[in-house]
Amino acid sequence: MSLNLLSIEELHDGLAAKKFSCREIIEDCLKCIKEKDGEIHAFLSVYPEMALKCADEVDSKIKAGEMIGLLEGIPFSVKDVILVEDMSATAGSKILEFFVAPYDATVIKRLKEAGAIVIGKTNCDAYGFGSSTENSDFGVTKNPHDLTKVAGGSSGGAAASVVSGMCTFALGEDTGGSIRQPASFCGIYGFKVSYGRVSRYGSIAYASSFDSIGPMARSTRDIAIVLSVIAGNDSLDATTVPDLVPDYLVELETKKDKPKKIGLPKEYFNGLDTKTTAIIDSALEVFRRKGYEVVEISLPHTKYAIACYYLLVTSEASSNLARLDGVRFGYRAPDPTNLEDLYKRSRTYGFGPEVKRRIILGTFSLSSGYFDAYYKRAQKVRTLIREDFKKAFEEVDLIITPTSPFPAFSVGEKVDDPLTMYLADIFTVGFSLAGLPTINVPCGLIGHLPVGMQITASYLNETSALKASLDFEQSHT
Ligand code: GLN
Repeated sequence: MSLNLLSIEELHDGLAAKKFSCREIIEDCLKCIKEKDGEIHAFLSVYPEMALKCADEVDSKIKAGEMIGLLEGIPFSVKDVILVEDMSATAGSKILEFFVAPYDATVIKRLKEAGAIVIGKTNCDAYGFGSSTENSDFGVTKNPHDLTKVAGGSSGGAAASVVSGMCTFALGEDTGGSIRQPASFCGIYGFKVSYGRVSRYGSIAYASSFDSIGPMARSTRDIAIVLSVIAGNDSLDATTVPDLVPDYLVELETKKDKPKKIGLPKEYFNGLDTKTTAIIDSALEVFRRKGYEVVEISLPHTKYAIACYYLLVTSEASSNLARLDGVRFGYRAPDPTNLEDLYKRSRTYGFGPEVKRRIILGTFSLSSGYFDAYYKRAQKVRTLIREDFKKAFEEVDLIITPTSPFPAFSVGEKVDDPLTMYLADIFTVGFSLAGLPTINVPCGLIGHLPVGMQITASYLNETSALKASLDFEQSHT
């Protein structure tokens, strides 16, 4: 039996019934990494000894007849922007190549308390800047469905690690699509939750008013289980919301709702290619058969979303990355002649071209003389975009769109054209500007490549998105 491909509940039941040991689960994952990761390159670092040691602890507990929790002994991977104590945290960037995290991010602390086991850290575009992991300073992650294609990004390593069975679930981070788009390219579930639902403490910041840590997994139920553990207020992150977190798995099983109304924003479907349109159409048929109503809606400010997003995130990033100056964290250029020389040479060596581009863009829109015309105006547009969604959710319960305009593209295809790469984020960034919960749900194939749809609910209404995801998963697979 390949334990590395089982769900959380299957693993839990098998462990509790002593059908297999936790050591065997971890060994199956490590074997899969050994066999496949030379080509895929999902991981930047793997920790076999640490993982096996944790596994043995779980096994002794079971042997002693103790009860184990649902996540106990379950292996997961962590995007390399999230800190795990005593493990490397490069954020995909050379400047942090030898940085070892001194403490656990809140999400890691919670998962460790629940008994889950970190198996390794996954590849990503540096600081999350990208959509293909080609902006990682440590090489690209290939798509397990086709090694000539990208796995998506920026959490490409996370998605590839899950779909190929190197772990049971992954933690990713999403600023403008980085959980959803790689989940779509790799054919798994990936949930960007409401802004403030999950603590960002211990995550290397990209754009602090957008960043969201979330689960990536092979089923909706696995997503619900992980989210119930990582979500919730955290005194170490003042932007987390105080609202109580439900047990999402229980909600999925018990909460009976009236049939839901789905909105299709017409702006998102204009000019969409026929194959993706056909796949989304047949997914909508599944919902209609289940009693959902489908109506057209309008989000009139959609056309400004990309410009607004890229102005704001680069501004926030330029400020967040100022701390990486060769003084305190990471790489320090040798023998500086003065402070400016230290900054210059450390950053010139440590930052790749996309990181430099974004720092320059962000610094420009924050500089005096341009601040009002760019940054401030973009903030106003963000409010308008938020209002669009608020109005839409007065009419409908859910919004469905494709996650990406196309399936996984070839490695190298768009790497010299950053603008095309930015424009491809059109379906994901609007929901990030509005801070809404939105999940990628696999819904079909173009050739051998997965296509995903994005199901979005109103603010803090994670349960609705999960329920729709499960409804579809059950009728589709
Ligand atoms: N592709 C988007 C960007 O480059 C999203 C990245 C992310 O969500 N971290 O900004």
